[in-house]
Amino acid sequence: MKTYRYVTALWDDATAAALDPVGRLVYRSNLLGSDQRITNTGGGNTSAKLTETDPLTGRPVDVLWIKGSGGDLRTSQRENFSSLYQEKLLALQPLYAGRKDKGLKSPAEDAMVGNYAQAVFNLNPRAPSIDTPLHSFLPAKQIDHLHPNAIIAIAASARCEELTREIFGPEMACVPWMRPGFELGLAMQEVVRRNPAARAIMMGSHGFIAWADDGRACYFRSLDLIEKAAAAIEARYAAKGGDATAFGGQKFAAWAPERRRDILAAVLPWLRGKLGRIATVQDDDATLRFVDAADAPRLAELGTSCPDHFLRTKIKPLYVEWNPATGDLAALQRGLSAGLERYRAEYAAYYAAHRRPDSPAMRDPNPTVLLVPGLGVIAWGKDKSESRVTAEFYRCAIEVMRGAEALDRYVALPRQEAFDIEYWALEEAKLRRMPAEKELARKVVIVIGAGSGIGRQIAFRLAREGAHVVCADLAEAAASATAADLIARHGAGIGVAGSGLSGCGPALGLAADITSRSGIRRLLDHVALAYGGFDSICVTAGVFFPSDTTGHIPDEKWAATFALNVTGSYLVADEAGKTWRTQGLPATLVLTSSANAAVAKKGSLAYDTSKAAVSHLVRELAIELAPLVRVNGVAPATVVAGSAMFPRDRVIGSLAKYGIPYREDEATDSLVQKLARFYADRTLTKTPITPDDQAEAYFLLVGDRLSKTTGQILAVDGGLPDAFLR
Ligand SMILES: [Zn+2]
Repeated sequence: MKTYRYVTALWDDATAAALDPVGRLVYRSNLLGSDQRITNTGGGNTSAKLTETDPLTGRPVDVLWIKGSGGDLRTSQRENFSSLYQEKLLALQPLYAGRKDKGLKSPAEDAMVGNYAQAVFNLNPRAPSIDTPLHSFLPAKQIDHLHPNAIIAIAASARCEELTREIFGPEMACVPWMRPGFELGLAMQEVVRRNPAARAIMMGSHGFIAWADDGRACYFRSLDLIEKAAAAIEARYAAKGGDATAFGGQKFAAWAPERRRDILAAVLPWLRGKLGRIATVQDDDATLRFVDAADAPRLAELGTSCPDHFLRTKIKPLYVEWNPATGDLAALQRGLSAGLERYRAEYAAYYAAHRRPDSPAMRDPNPTVLLVPGLGVIAWGKDKSESRVTAEFYRCAIEVMRGAEALDRYVALPRQEAFDIEYWALEEAKLRRMPAEKELARKVVIVIGAGSGIGRQIAFRLAREGAHVVCADLAEAAASATAADLIARHGAGIGVAGSGLSGCGPALGLAADITSRSGIRRLLDHVALAYGGFDSICVTAGVFFPSDTTGHIPDEKWAATFALNVTGSYLVADEAGKTWRTQGLPATLVLTSSANAAVAKKGSLAYDTSKAAVSHLVRELAIELAPLVRVNGVAPATVVAGSAMFPRDRVIGSLAKYGIPYREDEATDSLVQKLARFYADRTLTKTPITPDDQAEAYFLLVGDRLSKTTGQILAVDGGLPDAFLR
């Protein structure tokens, strides 16, 4: 096995040998995608030209297998690849040549994309990539098209062509920047004809392709070329002074991690209020070295280069003017406010200057990437996955600039070219094809008590609607287990960046003791660092102490009941209220009351009284936190099955109390069924009440479905006349 310094060779001959030809292509793709130095998330594509049997004629035909549109090399499986008749793809060339309106960015060029569907082999439903022509028109059997930082650094250097010759010799030809599409495929076909020694092509301001007639050879050729590029960069970088002089040297000192986290936790919800999205913070050493450097404002202004990068990072990031050496939170907020205003004006001017008669309407003029000296990069996206991808791409852009500035001078894509990609009709069509967002998409909800019972069920219910769910619980392991289950069910998303807590997926487990104000503050600050802020909180944590054998509740149990059930809920509302006011976005709080709040009965004096207090707390908080926050409560009645409040001994105690026959050795499940049946029979609807029934009520109150309801208690008790409002 070859060894490399700047990439990792993962190819295993035995594994590859056990696979069929398409399986080997998938295997190669996954290996390439798993190393971020080789390609970015969602970036690049791979192909193989294979002989297949035509389903109609039974004859052998050449088929191009290529990673489909919208897939990701790291995670793609067989179904993410499209398959197309090579003969039909090549037949598009004379068809295109016959069009009078052909040319780069012409209607004829875009029209060819629609024709790929005519070339589909064997009804494969995967949409072909925009890069299909460059894979089809080159004669090689196996092709990799990748976006490695080290290669883009050369592709985005002022002296791209000379550097390519110097570093790679005749093995790597060059094609200048062209928007991906049919014309680029034709241009690369011509480059190959003119350069018989070439085994790869540098694509200006974009990336490269490499090829071979065998998958293994293609994989190692790609790695060899990336290694060569990285070695050339690192040698020049070190000779120029390395980290100490990178990007013109350090202008600001990075803050200590603790201090950084404190100010970020304070400023992120405020920023989220202005940008309304989900944040990812990146503050590793390399990122801080860039944002704190003297050249950061100049380089940031140039913008990013590879089309994958700037489609997410926007044409350029917002470099925030403030001095971390002397500034405080207020100074940072002033810098951010002024920066956002300037950015929006510049974006509108960029749109006005470059728009074409048929351009789609201007999109959101806010930045998606903020560079904050002292603190790092803050990226924004509609969900956690998108914001992590955006952070990843800016981190790639920093690496590209580092490499380009070491070798030569970084040059960004001309603004008009970037605009023509950003507002390309095909990109617009892609955005339109995206499935409708789920009801709670873009929302962050904290469920306190999510480790078990109703809380866990609420977490599942809200995640199903697309919410980001913070699972908080006194038992941290249980909270993390719920979060892990949510991610196993709904996926972690494709983004890979994010420092510390901010590297989380769409669900996160955190410890929370809501009897402590400082503990609650810590929880809320952690949520801000993870997502930028939060929209809703459901509190299901509660405690029930049965009376002792004499029917009495000891004083400390009375106090503990009120400390958690009442004061805990109040402290959560009080601390969250501060963040919500800073954030300034509509929010919801749902507390947990009980049917027992209205029905007095024997043996649950402390619990029932505490729940009556919670019901009134809902009303008081609704007034206190209006109009920004709606506060409501759910009053469940005895949910036995799946409830954390009914361990075996409490079930037995209740069966005994109600004179229901049972055996000491009876299975817990069977005991629970008996008690649930008994409770169900006392209700008007005669059906046992489940945690799912409760979760539905929280879902209704968390989202916008009951958007005019606040200060109310929603009973989910099967119909208990004793608990009717009085
Ligand atoms: Zn590309």
